[in-house]
Amino acid sequence: MTIESAPVLVEARGVHKAYGSNLVVRGIDMTVRTGEVMCLLGPSGSGKSTFLRCINHLEKIDAGTISVAGELVGYRRQGDRLHELRDAEIASRRSDIGMVFQSFNLFPHMTVLENLVEAPIRVRRESPTSARARARELLDAVGLAEKADAYPRSLSGGQQQRVAIARALAMRPKLMLFDEPTSALDPELVGEVLDVMRGLADDGMTMIVVTHEIGFAREVADTVTFMDEGVVVESGPPTQVLRAPQHERTRSFLAKVL
Ligand code: ADP
Ligand code: MG
Repeated sequence: MTIESAPVLVEARGVHKAYGSNLVVRGIDMTVRTGEVMCLLGPSGSGKSTFLRCINHLEKIDAGTISVAGELVGYRRQGDRLHELRDAEIASRRSDIGMVFQSFNLFPHMTVLENLVEAPIRVRRESPTSARARARELLDAVGLAEKADAYPRSLSGGQQQRVAIARALAMRPKLMLFDEPTSALDPELVGEVLDVMRGLADDGMTMIVVTHEIGFAREVADTVTFMDEGVVVESGPPTQVLRAPQHERTRSFLAKVL
């Protein structure tokens, strides 16, 4: 099945978000299909992180709609009326979405394994036995089986970020959001994290990846979306957007990062 015919997983229509008088997201339309890898590029301050945070219920949008897996972010339908979600409902919806940030954000006082089982046990009410078994599988998948009992501070940045990815996957998300996951890493550690992400893409995970790693976008993305000043400037397959960009703003951005 090609991506174009896969079911829609994320749909954004006319999304606006302001901080005070600073209009940061100014009418974003975006469709991400199940199994699609979308790389989101754009200059610093163009609203990429804000938009990801809106998808993940971390920010409330001012206008427009976002839906994930057919459910509106922030709202519940009842008949033909919309009700704002309560905190418990938001927590339950958010557990379908994994997010990995530039800073690894592991719990420093917990071992690697404890980091992975905490949310599945507390939020998803998994049994400790099955959560631990799943955590060990995931650590194996990211090449860190032997680090289960280590504390985050004893790991390299690349290892910590691989744990952060495994921790997000432990919740069995339908969607993974990555916000510049390799930007805080020493250059020699970037590859091991991108390799894990590439494996995840190969396994069919739906991913939105904010990144400046153009090589990764070229090789792994189904779709490259270029944002500037809170809008989508252009979007399409990497061969089109990276090799033959239609807009001057995309061309000048690519000239700086390539
Ligand atoms: P990007 O990720 O593309 O670099 P961001 O979404 O982080 O862009 O930021 C877009 C704009 O929104 C910037 O001008 C930034 O200063 C502003 N901004 C981001 N987060 C906040 C916040 N929590 N409060 C106020 N302004 C913010
Ligand atoms: Mg950002």
